[in-house]
Amino acid sequence: MSNESAQVFDVIVIGAGHNGLVCATTLARAGQSVLVLEAADQVGGMAITRGFAEGFKVSAAAHLFNQMPLPLVRDLNLKQHGLQWAATDLPTIGLSPHEAPLRIGDRDALHVRCEADARALGPFDARMNRFGKLMHALLASAPPRLGTAIWEDKWALAKMALKLRLLGRQEMRELLRIIGMNAYDLLEDEFKNPLLKGTLGFDAIVGSNFGPRAPGTVLTYLYRRAAEVSAQSSTFVQPIGGLGAVTQALARAAEAAGARIRTQAPVARILVENDQASGVFLESGETVLAKAVISNVDAKTTFLNLLGTEHLDTGFVRRIDHFRSRGMTAKLHLALSKRPHFTGVKAEWLGGRLILSPSLNDLERAFNPTKYQSVSATPALEITVPTIHDSSLAPAGQHVLSSVVQYVPYTVAGGWATQRAAVTAQLIDLLDQHAPGLRDSVIAAELLTPEDLEKEFRITGGHWHHGDLAFDQFYMVRPVPGATQYETPLPGLYLCGASSHPGGGVMGLAGRHAAHRVLRPNP
Ligand SMILES: Cc1cc2nc3c(=O)[nH]c(=O)nc-3n(C[C@H](O)[C@H](O)[C@H](O)COP(=O)(O)OP(=O)(O)OC[C@H]3O[C@@H](n4cnc5c(N)ncnc54)[C@H](O)[C@@H]3O)c2cc1C
Repeated sequence: MSNESAQVFDVIVIGAGHNGLVCATTLARAGQSVLVLEAADQVGGMAITRGFAEGFKVSAAAHLFNQMPLPLVRDLNLKQHGLQWAATDLPTIGLSPHEAPLRIGDRDALHVRCEADARALGPFDARMNRFGKLMHALLASAPPRLGTAIWEDKWALAKMALKLRLLGRQEMRELLRIIGMNAYDLLEDEFKNPLLKGTLGFDAIVGSNFGPRAPGTVLTYLYRRAAEVSAQSSTFVQPIGGLGAVTQALARAAEAAGARIRTQAPVARILVENDQASGVFLESGETVLAKAVISNVDAKTTFLNLLGTEHLDTGFVRRIDHFRSRGMTAKLHLALSKRPHFTGVKAEWLGGRLILSPSLNDLERAFNPTKYQSVSATPALEITVPTIHDSSLAPAGQHVLSSVVQYVPYTVAGGWATQRAAVTAQLIDLLDQHAPGLRDSVIAAELLTPEDLEKEFRITGGHWHHGDLAFDQFYMVRPVPGATQYETPLPGLYLCGASSHPGGGVMGLAGRHAAHRVLRPNP
Protein backbone atom coordinates (compact mmCIF):
# COMPACT_ATOMS: atom_id res chain seq x y z
CA MET A 1 0.00 0.00 0.00
CA SER A 2 1.50 3.39 -1.02
CA ASN A 3 1.48 6.41 1.31
CA GLU A 4 -1.20 8.00 -0.84
CA SER A 5 -3.58 5.08 -0.35
CA ALA A 6 -3.63 5.69 3.38
CA GLN A 7 -4.54 9.36 3.05
CA VAL A 8 -7.64 11.32 1.98
CA PHE A 9 -6.41 14.26 -0.11
CA ASP A 10 -8.29 17.51 -0.40
CA VAL A 11 -7.84 17.30 -4.15
CA ILE A 12 -6.66 14.83 -6.78
CA VAL A 13 -5.74 16.32 -10.16
CA ILE A 14 -5.91 13.75 -12.99
CA GLY A 15 -3.25 14.65 -15.56
CA ALA A 16 -0.11 16.78 -15.33
CA GLY A 17 -0.65 18.81 -18.47
CA HIS A 18 0.31 22.46 -17.99
CA ASN A 19 -3.26 23.28 -16.88
CA GLY A 20 -3.28 20.47 -14.30
CA LEU A 21 0.03 21.76 -12.92
CA VAL A 22 -1.17 25.39 -12.71
CA CYS A 23 -4.33 24.18 -10.99
CA ALA A 24 -2.35 22.04 -8.53
CA THR A 25 0.02 24.90 -7.63
CA THR A 26 -2.83 27.33 -7.05
CA LEU A 27 -4.65 24.88 -4.77
CA ALA A 28 -1.53 23.80 -2.87
CA ARG A 29 -0.63 27.42 -2.24
CA ALA A 30 -4.09 27.88 -0.76
CA GLY A 31 -3.28 25.16 1.77
CA GLN A 32 -5.00 22.21 0.09
CA SER A 33 -3.34 18.78 0.10
CA VAL A 34 -2.97 17.98 -3.61
CA LEU A 35 -1.98 14.83 -5.47
CA VAL A 36 -1.37 14.99 -9.24
CA LEU A 37 -1.61 11.67 -11.08
CA GLU A 38 -0.11 11.58 -14.56
CA ALA A 39 -0.38 8.60 -16.88
CA ALA A 40 2.78 9.34 -18.92
CA ASP A 41 6.34 8.92 -17.71
CA GLN A 42 6.87 12.67 -17.62
CA VAL A 43 4.73 15.71 -16.79
CA GLY A 44 3.62 18.24 -19.40
CA GLY A 45 0.91 16.64 -21.56
CA MET A 46 1.08 18.21 -25.02
CA ALA A 47 3.83 20.58 -23.84
CA ILE A 48 6.79 18.23 -23.44
CA THR A 49 10.25 17.82 -24.94
CA ARG A 50 11.24 14.31 -25.90
CA GLY A 51 13.56 12.37 -28.18
CA PHE A 52 12.43 11.36 -31.66
CA ALA A 53 15.70 10.10 -33.15
CA GLU A 54 19.08 9.14 -31.69
CA GLY A 55 20.52 12.37 -30.23
CA PHE A 56 17.60 14.60 -31.37
CA LYS A 57 14.92 16.14 -29.12
CA VAL A 58 11.85 18.19 -29.98
CA SER A 59 8.83 19.89 -28.41
CA ALA A 60 6.43 17.06 -29.20
CA ALA A 61 3.18 18.98 -29.81
CA ALA A 62 3.26 22.64 -28.68
CA HIS A 63 6.51 24.21 -29.89
CA LEU A 64 6.10 27.98 -29.35
CA PHE A 65 5.27 29.82 -26.16
CA ASN A 66 3.21 32.97 -26.62
CA GLN A 67 -0.05 32.65 -24.74
CA MET A 68 0.54 32.41 -21.00
CA PRO A 69 -0.20 35.75 -19.29
CA LEU A 70 2.97 37.40 -18.05
CA PRO A 71 1.49 37.96 -14.55
CA LEU A 72 0.84 34.20 -14.34
CA VAL A 73 4.43 33.38 -15.43
CA ARG A 74 5.66 35.74 -12.71
CA ASP A 75 3.21 34.56 -10.07
CA LEU A 76 4.28 30.94 -10.58
CA ASN A 77 7.94 31.96 -10.27
CA LEU A 78 8.77 30.01 -13.42
CA LYS A 79 12.09 31.81 -13.88
CA GLN A 80 13.12 30.90 -10.31
CA HIS A 81 12.08 27.34 -11.09
CA GLY A 82 14.57 27.18 -13.94
CA LEU A 83 12.69 28.43 -17.01
CA GLN A 84 14.95 30.36 -19.38
CA TRP A 85 14.41 31.73 -22.87
CA ALA A 86 16.54 30.58 -25.78
CA ALA A 87 15.03 33.37 -27.91
CA THR A 88 12.26 35.95 -27.64
CA ASP A 89 10.51 38.15 -30.22
CA LEU A 90 10.72 35.45 -32.89
CA PRO A 91 9.73 37.02 -36.21
CA THR A 92 6.94 35.61 -38.38
CA ILE A 93 7.98 35.13 -42.01
CA GLY A 94 5.53 34.29 -44.79
CA LEU A 95 6.83 31.86 -47.46
CA SER A 96 5.46 31.46 -50.96
CA PRO A 97 6.48 29.79 -54.23
CA HIS A 98 5.24 32.93 -56.05
CA GLU A 99 6.95 35.77 -54.20
CA ALA A 100 9.94 36.44 -51.92
CA PRO A 101 9.56 35.74 -48.18
CA LEU A 102 7.83 38.54 -46.27
CA ARG A 103 8.49 39.45 -42.67
CA ILE A 104 5.09 40.23 -41.17
CA GLY A 105 5.09 43.68 -39.61
CA ASP A 106 7.90 44.98 -41.84
CA ARG A 107 5.97 47.89 -43.36
CA ASP A 108 8.87 49.02 -45.60
CA ALA A 109 9.09 45.61 -47.24
CA LEU A 110 5.32 45.52 -47.60
CA HIS A 111 5.30 49.06 -49.02
CA VAL A 112 7.51 47.87 -51.90
CA ARG A 113 4.95 45.12 -52.70
CA CYS A 114 1.75 47.02 -52.07
CA GLU A 115 1.50 50.61 -50.82
CA ALA A 116 -2.16 50.25 -49.90
CA ASP A 117 -1.44 47.20 -47.70
CA ALA A 118 1.43 48.98 -45.96
CA ARG A 119 -0.99 51.80 -45.11
CA ALA A 120 -3.77 49.43 -44.05
CA LEU A 121 -1.67 47.13 -41.82
CA GLY A 122 -1.19 49.63 -38.95
CA PRO A 123 -4.89 50.50 -38.49
CA PHE A 124 -5.87 46.81 -38.92
CA ASP A 125 -3.39 45.76 -36.23
CA ALA A 126 -4.53 48.53 -33.90
CA ARG A 127 -8.19 47.52 -34.32
CA MET A 128 -7.48 43.81 -33.84
CA ASN A 129 -5.52 44.65 -30.70
CA ARG A 130 -8.45 46.70 -29.37
CA PHE A 131 -10.79 43.78 -29.99
CA GLY A 132 -8.16 41.37 -28.65
CA LYS A 133 -8.05 43.39 -25.41
CA LEU A 134 -11.80 43.07 -25.07
CA MET A 135 -11.60 39.34 -25.66
CA HIS A 136 -8.72 39.13 -23.22
CA ALA A 137 -11.20 40.11 -20.53
CA LEU A 138 -13.20 37.00 -21.48
CA LEU A 139 -10.13 34.77 -21.28
CA ALA A 140 -8.89 36.24 -18.03
CA SER A 141 -11.94 35.31 -15.97
CA ALA A 142 -14.22 32.34 -15.51
CA PRO A 143 -17.39 32.67 -17.58
CA PRO A 144 -20.47 33.81 -15.69
CA ARG A 145 -23.54 31.60 -15.42
CA LEU A 146 -26.60 32.78 -17.28
CA GLY A 147 -29.91 33.46 -15.54
CA THR A 148 -28.72 33.07 -11.94
CA ALA A 149 -29.50 35.46 -9.09
CA ILE A 150 -25.84 35.36 -7.99
CA TRP A 151 -24.33 38.86 -7.90
CA GLU A 152 -20.93 37.63 -9.17
CA ASP A 153 -22.51 36.34 -12.39
CA LYS A 154 -24.51 39.53 -12.85
CA TRP A 155 -21.45 41.67 -12.19
CA ALA A 156 -19.35 39.68 -14.68
CA LEU A 157 -22.00 40.13 -17.38
CA ALA A 158 -22.35 43.83 -16.58
CA LYS A 159 -18.56 44.31 -16.75
CA MET A 160 -18.51 42.63 -20.15
CA ALA A 161 -21.29 44.88 -21.45
CA LEU A 162 -19.47 47.93 -20.11
CA LYS A 163 -16.21 46.94 -21.78
CA LEU A 164 -18.06 46.52 -25.07
CA ARG A 165 -19.72 49.92 -24.63
CA LEU A 166 -16.36 51.55 -23.89
CA LEU A 167 -15.15 50.58 -27.34
CA GLY A 168 -17.30 53.45 -28.63
CA ARG A 169 -20.20 53.26 -31.03
CA GLN A 170 -18.19 52.84 -34.24
CA GLU A 171 -15.84 50.14 -32.93
CA MET A 172 -18.65 48.31 -31.18
CA ARG A 173 -20.59 48.21 -34.44
CA GLU A 174 -17.50 47.01 -36.31
CA LEU A 175 -16.86 44.23 -33.78
CA LEU A 176 -20.46 43.05 -33.99
CA ARG A 177 -20.22 43.16 -37.81
CA ILE A 178 -17.09 41.05 -38.08
CA ILE A 179 -17.29 38.64 -35.13
CA GLY A 180 -19.42 36.08 -36.95
CA MET A 181 -17.62 36.52 -40.27
CA ASN A 182 -15.01 34.34 -41.84
CA ALA A 183 -11.33 35.27 -41.89
CA TYR A 184 -11.20 35.00 -45.69
CA ASP A 185 -13.75 37.80 -46.27
CA LEU A 186 -12.29 40.00 -43.55
CA LEU A 187 -8.73 39.78 -44.90
CA GLU A 188 -9.92 40.13 -48.51
CA ASP A 189 -11.67 43.37 -47.49
CA GLU A 190 -8.54 44.72 -45.84
CA PHE A 191 -5.56 43.70 -47.98
CA LYS A 192 -4.38 42.89 -51.50
CA ASN A 193 -1.07 41.04 -51.15
CA PRO A 194 -1.76 37.26 -51.29
CA LEU A 195 1.16 36.29 -49.03
CA LEU A 196 0.22 38.81 -46.35
CA LYS A 197 -3.39 37.58 -46.37
CA GLY A 198 -2.38 33.91 -46.40
CA THR A 199 0.03 34.35 -43.50
CA LEU A 200 -2.43 36.34 -41.37
CA GLY A 201 -5.16 33.85 -42.29
CA PHE A 202 -3.06 30.96 -40.96
CA ASP A 203 -3.40 32.35 -37.43
CA ALA A 204 -7.18 32.28 -37.76
CA ILE A 205 -7.29 28.55 -38.45
CA VAL A 206 -4.25 26.97 -36.80
CA GLY A 207 -5.32 24.21 -34.41
CA SER A 208 -8.87 24.28 -35.78
CA ASN A 209 -10.99 22.15 -38.08
CA PHE A 210 -11.99 25.04 -40.31
CA GLY A 211 -10.94 26.45 -43.64
CA PRO A 212 -10.54 30.24 -43.77
CA ARG A 213 -13.97 30.58 -45.40
CA ALA A 214 -15.76 28.97 -42.43
CA PRO A 215 -17.95 31.29 -40.36
CA GLY A 216 -16.45 31.86 -36.92
CA THR A 217 -12.84 32.08 -38.11
CA VAL A 218 -12.72 35.77 -37.17
CA LEU A 219 -13.64 34.60 -33.66
CA THR A 220 -10.71 32.17 -33.65
CA TYR A 221 -8.41 34.89 -35.06
CA LEU A 222 -9.46 37.27 -32.28
CA TYR A 223 -9.05 34.48 -29.74
CA ARG A 224 -5.43 34.17 -30.82
CA ARG A 225 -4.94 37.95 -30.67
CA ALA A 226 -6.59 37.98 -27.23
CA ALA A 227 -4.20 35.31 -25.95
CA GLU A 228 -1.29 37.38 -27.23
CA VAL A 229 -2.65 40.53 -25.57
CA SER A 230 -3.06 38.45 -22.42
CA ALA A 231 0.54 37.25 -22.65
CA GLN A 232 1.49 40.90 -23.25
CA SER A 233 3.28 39.77 -26.36
CA SER A 234 2.51 39.68 -30.05
CA THR A 235 5.64 37.68 -30.64
CA PHE A 236 6.78 34.16 -29.95
CA VAL A 237 9.21 32.78 -27.40
CA GLN A 238 11.36 29.65 -27.49
CA PRO A 239 12.31 28.28 -24.07
CA ILE A 240 15.74 26.63 -23.59
CA GLY A 241 15.07 22.90 -23.72
CA GLY A 242 11.80 23.31 -25.63
CA LEU A 243 8.24 23.55 -24.30
CA GLY A 244 9.01 20.72 -21.87
CA ALA A 245 11.09 23.23 -19.92
CA VAL A 246 7.90 25.23 -19.23
CA THR A 247 6.07 22.25 -17.76
CA GLN A 248 9.14 21.05 -15.85
CA ALA A 249 9.29 24.51 -14.23
CA LEU A 250 5.53 24.31 -13.57
CA ALA A 251 6.01 20.93 -11.86
CA ARG A 252 8.75 22.39 -9.66
CA ALA A 253 6.42 25.28 -8.78
CA ALA A 254 3.68 22.79 -7.85
CA GLU A 255 6.03 20.73 -5.69
CA ALA A 256 7.46 23.85 -4.05
CA ALA A 257 3.88 24.77 -3.10
CA GLY A 258 3.44 21.34 -1.52
CA ALA A 259 1.66 19.35 -4.24
CA ARG A 260 2.70 15.74 -4.82
CA ILE A 261 3.15 14.57 -8.39
CA ARG A 262 3.21 10.96 -9.55
CA THR A 263 4.00 10.00 -13.13
CA GLN A 264 3.28 6.58 -14.66
CA ALA A 265 0.07 6.61 -12.64
CA PRO A 266 -2.81 6.27 -15.13
CA VAL A 267 -6.25 6.69 -13.61
CA ALA A 268 -8.74 4.03 -14.68
CA ARG A 269 -11.92 5.30 -12.96
CA ILE A 270 -13.24 8.21 -10.95
CA LEU A 271 -14.81 6.86 -7.76
CA VAL A 272 -18.30 7.93 -6.71
CA GLU A 273 -19.74 7.58 -3.26
CA ASN A 274 -23.06 9.04 -2.13
CA ASP A 275 -23.46 10.78 -5.50
CA GLN A 276 -20.19 12.63 -5.04
CA ALA A 277 -16.68 12.17 -6.48
CA SER A 278 -14.65 10.50 -3.76
CA GLY A 279 -11.31 9.60 -5.33
CA VAL A 280 -9.81 7.54 -8.14
CA PHE A 281 -8.99 3.98 -8.99
CA LEU A 282 -5.65 3.61 -10.78
CA GLU A 283 -4.88 1.16 -13.59
CA SER A 284 -2.41 -0.40 -11.13
CA GLY A 285 -5.36 -1.41 -8.93
CA GLU A 286 -4.61 1.20 -6.27
CA THR A 287 -7.37 3.39 -4.81
CA VAL A 288 -6.70 6.98 -3.70
CA LEU A 289 -9.39 9.00 -1.93
CA ALA A 290 -10.02 12.74 -2.09
CA LYS A 291 -12.69 15.30 -1.24
CA ALA A 292 -12.55 16.66 -4.80
CA VAL A 293 -11.31 15.32 -8.15
CA ILE A 294 -10.23 17.71 -10.92
CA SER A 295 -9.67 16.37 -14.42
CA ASN A 296 -7.09 17.87 -16.75
CA VAL A 297 -8.11 15.16 -19.23
CA ASP A 298 -10.40 16.10 -22.13
CA ALA A 299 -14.13 16.24 -21.42
CA LYS A 300 -15.06 13.19 -23.50
CA THR A 301 -12.53 10.91 -21.81
CA THR A 302 -13.36 12.33 -18.37
CA PHE A 303 -17.10 11.70 -18.58
CA LEU A 304 -17.43 8.76 -20.93
CA ASN A 305 -14.40 6.68 -19.86
CA LEU A 306 -13.21 7.74 -16.41
CA LEU A 307 -16.55 8.55 -14.79
CA GLY A 308 -18.98 6.37 -16.77
CA THR A 309 -22.35 7.23 -18.24
CA GLU A 310 -24.21 5.49 -15.40
CA HIS A 311 -23.53 8.58 -13.26
CA LEU A 312 -24.87 11.03 -15.84
CA ASP A 313 -28.25 11.81 -17.34
CA THR A 314 -28.94 10.89 -20.96
CA GLY A 315 -29.17 14.47 -22.23
CA PHE A 316 -25.77 15.33 -20.78
CA VAL A 317 -24.19 12.16 -22.21
CA ARG A 318 -25.58 13.08 -25.64
CA ARG A 319 -24.10 16.60 -25.40
CA ILE A 320 -20.68 15.27 -24.41
CA ASP A 321 -20.87 12.70 -27.17
CA HIS A 322 -21.51 15.53 -29.65
CA PHE A 323 -18.62 17.69 -28.36
CA ARG A 324 -16.55 17.98 -31.56
CA SER A 325 -13.07 16.86 -30.64
CA ARG A 326 -11.42 15.35 -33.70
CA GLY A 327 -8.22 17.25 -34.42
CA MET A 328 -6.98 18.26 -37.86
CA THR A 329 -3.52 19.48 -36.89
CA ALA A 330 -0.46 17.26 -37.17
CA LYS A 331 3.18 17.66 -36.28
CA LEU A 332 6.23 16.82 -38.40
CA HIS A 333 9.66 16.42 -36.83
CA LEU A 334 12.81 16.10 -38.93
CA ALA A 335 16.34 15.32 -37.77
CA LEU A 336 18.64 17.10 -40.24
CA SER A 337 22.34 16.51 -40.82
CA LYS A 338 22.86 20.21 -41.64
CA ARG A 339 21.28 23.63 -41.34
CA PRO A 340 18.42 24.07 -43.82
CA HIS A 341 18.49 27.08 -46.17
CA PHE A 342 15.08 28.42 -47.16
CA THR A 343 15.21 30.39 -50.39
CA GLY A 344 15.18 34.12 -49.70
CA VAL A 345 15.03 33.67 -45.92
CA LYS A 346 17.70 35.81 -44.23
CA ALA A 347 19.99 34.05 -41.75
CA GLU A 348 18.48 35.97 -38.81
CA TRP A 349 14.96 34.88 -39.81
CA LEU A 350 15.64 31.15 -39.77
CA GLY A 351 15.23 30.99 -36.00
CA GLY A 352 11.76 32.52 -36.37
CA ARG A 353 8.36 31.20 -37.33
CA LEU A 354 8.13 30.41 -41.03
CA ILE A 355 4.55 30.21 -42.27
CA LEU A 356 3.87 28.44 -45.54
CA SER A 357 0.42 29.66 -46.48
CA PRO A 358 1.00 31.55 -49.74
CA SER A 359 -2.57 32.86 -50.08
CA LEU A 360 -6.05 32.48 -48.63
CA ASN A 361 -7.04 30.38 -51.62
CA ASP A 362 -4.08 28.09 -51.02
CA LEU A 363 -5.19 27.78 -47.41
CA GLU A 364 -8.73 26.88 -48.45
CA ARG A 365 -7.33 24.39 -51.00
CA ALA A 366 -5.20 22.83 -48.25
CA PHE A 367 -8.41 22.30 -46.27
CA ASN A 368 -10.65 20.96 -49.05
CA PRO A 369 -9.29 17.37 -49.36
CA THR A 370 -9.82 16.74 -45.64
CA LYS A 371 -13.58 16.65 -46.32
CA TYR A 372 -12.84 13.46 -48.26
CA GLN A 373 -10.35 12.06 -45.70
CA SER A 374 -7.33 12.98 -47.72
CA VAL A 375 -4.33 15.30 -47.24
CA SER A 376 -3.49 18.09 -49.68
CA ALA A 377 -0.08 17.87 -51.40
CA THR A 378 0.45 21.44 -50.18
CA PRO A 379 -0.87 21.78 -46.61
CA ALA A 380 -0.15 24.94 -44.63
CA LEU A 381 2.90 24.76 -42.35
CA GLU A 382 4.26 26.58 -39.31
CA ILE A 383 7.96 25.73 -39.48
CA THR A 384 10.52 26.29 -36.75
CA VAL A 385 14.17 25.25 -36.54
CA PRO A 386 14.61 25.31 -32.75
CA THR A 387 18.28 24.29 -32.91
CA ILE A 388 19.15 27.72 -34.35
CA HIS A 389 18.71 29.07 -30.79
CA ASP A 390 19.20 25.91 -28.74
CA SER A 391 21.99 23.53 -29.71
CA SER A 392 21.11 21.17 -26.83
CA LEU A 393 18.35 19.63 -28.97
CA ALA A 394 20.63 17.96 -31.55
CA PRO A 395 24.19 16.67 -31.98
CA ALA A 396 26.75 19.37 -32.83
CA GLY A 397 26.23 20.90 -36.27
CA GLN A 398 22.94 19.07 -36.82
CA HIS A 399 19.43 20.46 -36.66
CA VAL A 400 15.80 19.79 -35.76
CA LEU A 401 12.90 20.99 -37.88
CA SER A 402 9.55 21.12 -36.09
CA SER A 403 6.46 21.91 -38.14
CA VAL A 404 2.77 22.21 -37.38
CA VAL A 405 0.88 20.77 -40.34
CA GLN A 406 -2.57 22.13 -41.04
CA TYR A 407 -4.72 20.22 -42.23
CA VAL A 408 -4.33 16.48 -41.56
CA PRO A 409 -7.55 14.55 -40.92
CA TYR A 410 -7.93 12.14 -38.01
CA THR A 411 -8.98 9.39 -40.40
CA VAL A 412 -7.40 9.08 -43.82
CA ALA A 413 -8.67 7.03 -46.73
CA GLY A 414 -6.71 3.76 -46.71
CA GLY A 415 -5.74 4.19 -43.04
CA TRP A 416 -2.65 5.83 -41.51
CA ALA A 417 -0.73 2.55 -41.43
CA THR A 418 -0.52 2.60 -45.22
CA GLN A 419 -0.58 6.40 -45.81
CA ARG A 420 1.94 7.60 -43.20
CA ALA A 421 5.09 7.09 -45.29
CA ALA A 422 3.58 8.69 -48.41
CA VAL A 423 2.28 11.76 -46.52
CA THR A 424 5.63 12.16 -44.72
CA ALA A 425 7.52 11.98 -48.04
CA GLN A 426 5.09 14.49 -49.55
CA LEU A 427 5.73 16.91 -46.70
CA ILE A 428 9.50 16.55 -47.07
CA ASP A 429 9.13 17.21 -50.83
CA LEU A 430 7.11 20.33 -50.09
CA LEU A 431 9.78 21.58 -47.66
CA ASP A 432 12.50 20.75 -50.18
CA GLN A 433 10.83 23.03 -52.74
CA HIS A 434 11.39 25.95 -50.32
CA ALA A 435 14.67 24.74 -48.83
CA PRO A 436 16.50 23.02 -51.71
CA GLY A 437 18.71 20.17 -50.49
CA LEU A 438 16.69 19.63 -47.30
CA ARG A 439 15.45 16.22 -48.48
CA ASP A 440 19.00 14.86 -48.72
CA SER A 441 19.81 16.04 -45.20
CA VAL A 442 16.93 14.17 -43.50
CA ILE A 443 18.32 11.60 -41.04
CA ALA A 444 14.96 10.71 -39.47
CA ALA A 445 11.35 11.85 -39.73
CA GLU A 446 8.39 11.55 -37.39
CA LEU A 447 4.82 12.46 -38.34
CA LEU A 448 2.30 12.75 -35.51
CA THR A 449 -1.21 12.62 -36.94
CA PRO A 450 -4.22 13.54 -34.76
CA GLU A 451 -4.65 9.80 -34.18
CA ASP A 452 -1.04 9.58 -32.91
CA LEU A 453 -1.55 12.65 -30.72
CA GLU A 454 -4.64 10.97 -29.28
CA LYS A 455 -2.63 7.86 -28.39
CA GLU A 456 0.46 9.62 -27.05
CA PHE A 457 -1.38 12.24 -24.98
CA ARG A 458 -4.53 10.23 -24.21
CA ILE A 459 -6.71 13.00 -25.62
CA THR A 460 -9.84 11.92 -27.53
CA GLY A 461 -9.40 13.08 -31.13
CA GLY A 462 -5.90 14.53 -30.56
CA HIS A 463 -7.34 18.05 -30.84
CA TRP A 464 -5.15 21.15 -30.16
CA HIS A 465 -7.93 22.55 -27.91
CA HIS A 466 -9.32 19.15 -26.74
CA GLY A 467 -12.39 20.20 -28.79
CA ASP A 468 -13.28 22.77 -31.46
CA LEU A 469 -13.32 26.41 -30.50
CA ALA A 470 -16.54 27.49 -32.17
CA PHE A 471 -19.50 29.63 -31.13
CA ASP A 472 -21.43 26.58 -29.88
CA GLN A 473 -18.43 25.33 -27.82
CA PHE A 474 -17.16 28.68 -26.55
CA TYR A 475 -17.11 30.68 -23.32
CA MET A 476 -20.33 30.17 -21.32
CA VAL A 477 -21.21 26.92 -23.11
CA ARG A 478 -17.72 25.30 -23.15
CA PRO A 479 -17.42 22.33 -23.28
CA VAL A 480 -21.18 21.73 -23.02
CA PRO A 481 -24.05 23.09 -20.94
CA GLY A 482 -24.00 21.24 -17.63
CA ALA A 483 -20.19 21.22 -17.42
CA THR A 484 -19.37 24.91 -17.77
CA GLN A 485 -17.54 27.07 -15.22
CA TYR A 486 -15.30 24.04 -14.46
CA GLU A 487 -18.11 22.28 -12.57
CA THR A 488 -19.75 19.07 -13.69
CA PRO A 489 -23.09 17.38 -12.97
CA LEU A 490 -21.32 15.26 -10.32
CA PRO A 491 -20.60 17.18 -7.10
CA GLY A 492 -16.92 17.13 -6.27
CA LEU A 493 -15.81 16.56 -9.88
CA TYR A 494 -14.32 19.48 -11.83
CA LEU A 495 -12.60 20.08 -15.19
CA CYS A 496 -9.39 22.11 -15.55
CA GLY A 497 -8.03 21.36 -19.05
CA ALA A 498 -8.34 22.79 -22.54
CA SER A 499 -11.89 21.41 -22.92
CA SER A 500 -12.94 24.18 -20.53
CA HIS A 501 -12.92 27.92 -21.09
CA PRO A 502 -10.77 29.50 -22.50
CA GLY A 503 -9.57 26.41 -24.41
CA GLY A 504 -6.13 25.30 -25.50
CA GLY A 505 -2.75 26.80 -26.12
CA VAL A 506 -0.14 26.83 -23.38
CA MET A 507 -1.98 29.54 -21.48
CA GLY A 508 -2.65 28.04 -18.04
CA LEU A 509 -5.88 29.97 -17.57
CA ALA A 510 -8.26 26.99 -17.52
CA GLY A 511 -6.14 25.50 -14.71
CA ARG A 512 -6.06 28.77 -12.77
CA HIS A 513 -9.82 29.48 -13.13
CA ALA A 514 -10.70 25.90 -12.16
CA ALA A 515 -8.62 26.16 -8.97
CA HIS A 516 -10.38 29.39 -8.05
CA ARG A 517 -13.73 27.71 -8.64
CA VAL A 518 -12.82 24.83 -6.31
CA LEU A 519 -11.64 27.25 -3.61
CA ARG A 520 -14.75 29.44 -3.82
CA PRO A 521 -17.44 28.51 -1.35
CA ASN A 522 -20.66 27.41 -3.03
CA PRO A 523 -22.88 30.41 -3.68
C1 LIG B 1 0.27 19.66 -33.05
C2 LIG B 1 0.01 20.66 -31.97
C3 LIG B 1 0.80 21.80 -31.89
C4 LIG B 1 0.56 22.75 -30.91
N1 LIG B 1 1.37 23.86 -30.85
C5 LIG B 1 1.17 24.78 -29.88
C6 LIG B 1 2.07 25.87 -29.72
O1 LIG B 1 3.06 25.99 -30.47
N2 LIG B 1 1.84 26.76 -28.73
C7 LIG B 1 0.77 26.63 -27.87
O2 LIG B 1 0.61 27.48 -26.98
N3 LIG B 1 -0.09 25.58 -27.97
C8 LIG B 1 0.09 24.65 -28.94
N4 LIG B 1 -0.73 23.56 -29.02
C9 LIG B 1 -1.85 23.43 -28.06
C10 LIG B 1 -1.40 22.98 -26.68
O3 LIG B 1 -0.38 22.02 -26.77
C11 LIG B 1 -2.57 22.38 -25.88
O4 LIG B 1 -3.73 23.13 -26.04
C12 LIG B 1 -2.22 22.34 -24.39
O5 LIG B 1 -0.98 21.70 -24.20
C13 LIG B 1 -3.32 21.61 -23.61
O6 LIG B 1 -2.93 21.58 -22.25
P1 LIG B 1 -3.78 20.88 -21.13
O7 LIG B 1 -2.99 20.97 -19.87
O8 LIG B 1 -5.15 21.44 -21.09
O9 LIG B 1 -3.95 19.35 -21.58
P2 LIG B 1 -2.88 18.26 -22.04
O10 LIG B 1 -1.59 18.89 -22.36
O11 LIG B 1 -3.55 17.47 -23.09
O12 LIG B 1 -2.67 17.36 -20.74
C14 LIG B 1 -3.56 16.36 -20.32
C15 LIG B 1 -2.78 15.38 -19.47
O13 LIG B 1 -3.65 14.38 -18.94
C16 LIG B 1 -2.93 13.14 -18.94
N5 LIG B 1 -3.89 12.02 -18.87
C17 LIG B 1 -4.80 11.66 -19.79
N6 LIG B 1 -5.50 10.59 -19.37
C18 LIG B 1 -5.04 10.29 -18.13
C19 LIG B 1 -5.37 9.30 -17.16
N7 LIG B 1 -6.33 8.40 -17.39
N8 LIG B 1 -4.69 9.29 -15.99
C20 LIG B 1 -3.72 10.19 -15.73
N9 LIG B 1 -3.36 11.15 -16.62
C21 LIG B 1 -4.01 11.21 -17.81
C22 LIG B 1 -2.18 13.17 -20.24
O14 LIG B 1 -1.13 12.23 -20.27
C23 LIG B 1 -1.69 14.64 -20.25
O15 LIG B 1 -0.47 14.76 -19.58
C24 LIG B 1 -0.50 22.57 -29.98
C25 LIG B 1 -1.28 21.42 -30.04
C26 LIG B 1 -1.03 20.46 -31.02
C27 LIG B 1 -1.88 19.23 -31.07
